[in-house]
Amino acid sequence: MLKTRTLDDLKSLLTPSDRMPIVFLGHGSPMNAIEDTAYSRAWSKLGQSLPRPKAILVVSAHWMTRGTTLVDVSAMPKTIHDFYGFPDALFAQQYPASGDPALAREVVTLLASHHSDEDDTWGLDHGAWTILKFLYPDADVPVFQVSIDMGRGLEHQIEIGRTLSELRDRGVLILGSGNVVHNLRALQWSPKAKPHDWALEFDAIFENRLTDRDFGALADRKELGSLLQMAHPSVDHYMPTLTIAGASDDRDDLTFMTDTIDMGSISMRSFVFHAR
Ligand code: ZN
Repeated sequence: MLKTRTLDDLKSLLTPSDRMPIVFLGHGSPMNAIEDTAYSRAWSKLGQSLPRPKAILVVSAHWMTRGTTLVDVSAMPKTIHDFYGFPDALFAQQYPASGDPALAREVVTLLASHHSDEDDTWGLDHGAWTILKFLYPDADVPVFQVSIDMGRGLEHQIEIGRTLSELRDRGVLILGSGNVVHNLRALQWSPKAKPHDWALEFDAIFENRLTDRDFGALADRKELGSLLQMAHPSVDHYMPTLTIAGASDDRDDLTFMTDTIDMGSISMRSFVFHAR
């Protein structure tokens, strides 16, 4: 039976196991990287609670490809500052973790039926490093990214997760980074902004379907209808939630972490699947 718990319970639950947990984190604003927020604190706490991985595979909303799934095989992935109009302090941030070329090439092979290929031009975009900075502040765990193929449907990303899931038994942390609701056009800048009704509704549906392991419904554009259009005018930030869902199985428990909605239309809902 699947149970949901909160982050406070997590540390006692995450005992060393041969099977790594899988994590989805809502990353929101890049400013979380240099500010002390509820999110950056939760990420630090999570990093201290997780079993130490041998490597981290990140699926970030910000690496979008079309017709292919790329895997970064570089030895030292560069820190990418893929945003504009932010303070110099944010552009000065570096996350100097090494890559894992051998494992990354294995992942290319693993995803061969998903039009995978090697890449050495990407690195770590802000969907990855703004979070990793808190999870593993010493940058001492090898990390590499896998792109999301925007040319394929939502179901495809669940299949990618399913295929990657065997890496959990090899000490690899699969980390998805995006947002459960992400509509930049509907942002509200007032500090007193309330979440849009449709943002709350989509977020709640997501929570329920994920808890019920009804991933097919989460990938069903027809069923999600106009609500999906409102929550995700483009599905890039939604895709990594499906990768992580796909990498889970019915031996996992589910724990939700932060679940607030920022600026009216950015859900910071985050979750961890961990083997019982
Ligand atoms: Zn983003």
